[in-house]
Amino acid sequence: AKVEGGQGFRFYAPAMNARALERLDLEHGLRRAIEKGELILHYQPQLDLRSGQIIGAEALVRWRHPERGMISPGAFIPLAEESGLIVPLGEWVLREACRQNRAWQIAGLPPLTVAVNLSARQFAAGDLVALTAEVLTATGLAPEYLELELTESAVMADTEGFIETTRRLKALSVALSIDDFGTGFSSLSYLRRFEIDRLKIDQSFVRDMVHDPGSAAIAEAIIALAHSLNLAALAEGVETEAQLRFLRARDCDEMQGYYFSRPLPVAEFEALLRVPRRL
Ligand code: C2E
Ligand code: CA
Ligand code: CA
Ligand code: CA
Repeated sequence: AKVEGGQGFRFYAPAMNARALERLDLEHGLRRAIEKGELILHYQPQLDLRSGQIIGAEALVRWRHPERGMISPGAFIPLAEESGLIVPLGEWVLREACRQNRAWQIAGLPPLTVAVNLSARQFAAGDLVALTAEVLTATGLAPEYLELELTESAVMADTEGFIETTRRLKALSVALSIDDFGTGFSSLSYLRRFEIDRLKIDQSFVRDMVHDPGSAAIAEAIIALAHSLNLAALAEGVETEAQLRFLRARDCDEMQGYYFSRPLPVAEFEALLRVPRRL
């Protein structure tokens, strides 16, 4: 790299270049990762707190990079969002999760809902509703076995567009949830303007609620809010017995977290479905 300017800059520039190159390299790689079949989905069980049974699975994407090994979504989803690659990536995730869920049903495993994460950018690009309808038809999955996880950032980016899109998604009979609920600081008034099925209590509140009164109050308030609006409350990131007790005592409906299981590769998740283990 050609470096002009003072001494300090000389050290700074190569580092910046390395990072920019690394980024470019990842972006090029990601562009081809879908075609080359390097993306895979792991599935994390979601459980009903009353019956203790598995009722769903959240699909979480991983990138099996040929040289770097397994890359977690935190390292490439933000890049995919910035570059717009999240649109084809998100479409692949939706299709693969629906295909897999239908395959489990055909194999005679107990039916469950598969939850797919949607980025705010997927709302703006193309027709998400037409895509969802097409994927359901192509995979043969009944719509009630698909849940879309939305974030408040999608609400904030375009509230009217969001409300319209979610209305049309509900008309297809898919389930909708708000992910990371409580972290978006958006107005709660939107909640009564569309049909959502579930609020997912962000894991930061779940992590701290047992020892931090503020987090406890927020977790309790989200459960109460969900119930007063006739929605289910799902706590994510549940890791301990104490957290589980806290949630049960407050009538939380569902949970997901390492306490029961990490996100699992397909074969391991399938094994769990074959020999149902309860909470
Ligand atoms: P998220 O949607 O909030 O997913 C939950 C994350 O928490 C997952 O991380 C999961 O592995 C992790 N987790 C689950 N249980 C526990 C627990 O008990 N303790 C702790 N500490 N963590 C737990 P992961 O798989 O690394 O995904 C990170 C984020 O990447 C996701 O957060 C989501 O925002 C994004 N992401 C993953 N897959 C997709 C995708 O297909 N599309 C989009 N748009 N985003 C995705
Ligand atoms: Ca999620
Ligand atoms: Ca979440
Ligand atoms: Ca998150």
